[in-house]
Amino acid sequence: MALVNLKQLVSAAFHHGYAVGSFNVVNMETLQAILQVAEEHHSPVILSVAEAHFPFVDLEEFSPILLRAARKAKVPVALHLDHGQSLPAIVTALRNGFTSVMFDGSTLPLEENIAKTREITRMAHAVDVSVEAELGHVTGGEDDTSPGVADPSLFTDPQEAELFVAETEVDALAVAVGSVHGIYQGTPELDIERLAAIRDLTGVPLVLHGGSGLSNDDFRQAIAAGIAKINVYTDMSQAAMARIRTVDTLPQRLGFPEFMLLVREAIQEAVAEKMQIFGSVGQCN
Ligand SMILES: [Zn+2]
Repeated sequence: MALVNLKQLVSAAFHHGYAVGSFNVVNMETLQAILQVAEEHHSPVILSVAEAHFPFVDLEEFSPILLRAARKAKVPVALHLDHGQSLPAIVTALRNGFTSVMFDGSTLPLEENIAKTREITRMAHAVDVSVEAELGHVTGGEDDTSPGVADPSLFTDPQEAELFVAETEVDALAVAVGSVHGIYQGTPELDIERLAAIRDLTGVPLVLHGGSGLSNDDFRQAIAAGIAKINVYTDMSQAAMARIRTVDTLPQRLGFPEFMLLVREAIQEAVAEKMQIFGSVGQCN
C-alpha cells in the first residue's frame, strides 16, 4: 500500500462519505502507535508533523524513519506537513519526501493568502505533492492548554472559498466553522450549513482542525457536509497525559521503556476511537 499523497487519500474519503484522521507525530511512540492502529483497523492514515513541533522533531533526522515506516505500512499513508507558516518549512518538507504540505496563510489578507498559496501549489504539484490551505481562521495554537472559544467573525466565507480554490488549485481546504485548536471552553457548535455551502461551491475535500470537544454526532454531520480530513492532536496528547498521571498508582514500578509503552497504549486507544468515529476503519481492505 504505502506512501501516497494526500489528494488520493482525501478524494476517496470525500466521495465515499468518511474522513481520514491526520495525527500529529511528535516522537517514535506516536509514530508506532498511529501506524499500528491504522494497520489493525485497515484504515488509511495521515502522519503529520507540525512546524510548531520542529523543536521536538528534527525533520532532517526523523524523515527517513517516517518514510521507511510509511512505505512498509500495510495501509495507505500520507506524510503531511501541518501548519507550514514559512516557505523554508514547506521546502524542507518537500526535500525530505513529504507527500503533502499545508500552507497556513489564514492570518494574511485574502489577496496575499491567495498569492502565497498559489506559489506553493505550483511548486508542490510539480513534484506530485498535495497542498492544503486554510481560509478563515481556526483560533488557538497546537499546544494551547488554556481553553478557547470560536470567533464567528473569522469563519470561512463560502464565496471567498470558491474564489480561493479556483485561484490557488489547492487539493484540500481547512475551514473555520466553529472549532478551535486545543481545548474548547464550553460546547462547540459547528456551522454545518456554512460547511455544506463551502463544499458545494468549491468541490474540494474540506479539513477540520480542532476537533476536541465535538460529539460523535458533530463529526458525522461534518463529514456528511464535506469534511474528509480531520486533524487530531489535543485528544491524543490528553490521553497520554492522563495515563502518565496513573503511574504512581500502579502496583509495580516501571522502568523508562515500560513507561513509554504505557503512553503508547493510551495514544493507540485515542487513535482507534477517532478512526471508528471518522468511518475510516475497513476502508482499505
Ligand atoms: Zn490546525
